[in-house]
Formats: sequence, structure tokens, C-alpha cells
Amino acid sequence: MILPFVIIIVFVVVMIFARRNAATRDCRWREDRTGDKGSLRKYNCIACGAEAYRSEGPPDRCLKGLDAPRL
Ligand SMILES: [Zn+2]
Repeated sequence: MILPFVIIIVFVVVMIFARRNAATRDCRWREDRTGDKGSLRKYNCIACGAEAYRSEGPPDRCLKGLDAPRL
């Protein structure tokens, strides 16, 4: 019987993707208007402390580990 193994493999793959999505969902991007640069709006992730500059809307993923360059 191969079917049980296929089900287990599919389950594991789904779990991996679910955990990735969960990690991204933990991020809470918050506008920081004091850090705006022209048309770029500064966003702080209050979950992991990442910083990002975007012109439209907060990032859709966590940028943890990608340090924004200090200006
Ligand atoms: Zn984050």
C-alpha cells in the first residue's frame, strides 16, 4: 500500500507551508510617518523589528534579517 505514505508526504508538505505562512503572519507592519522619505513611507515590523520603505502599503512578508541601510 503506497497511499498512506503519499498522504503523509502531502501532510508534511502542507505543514511546512503552513508554518511559513504563520511566520509571515506574525509580522505587524506599522506606519512610521516620522521616517517618511519623500513618497516612500517607512514601516516598522513590531513583531521582529524589521524596517522597510514602501510607496504603497506595507510589505507582504517579513524582512527580518535584511537590515535596511542606515542613512
Ligand atoms: Zn517581521
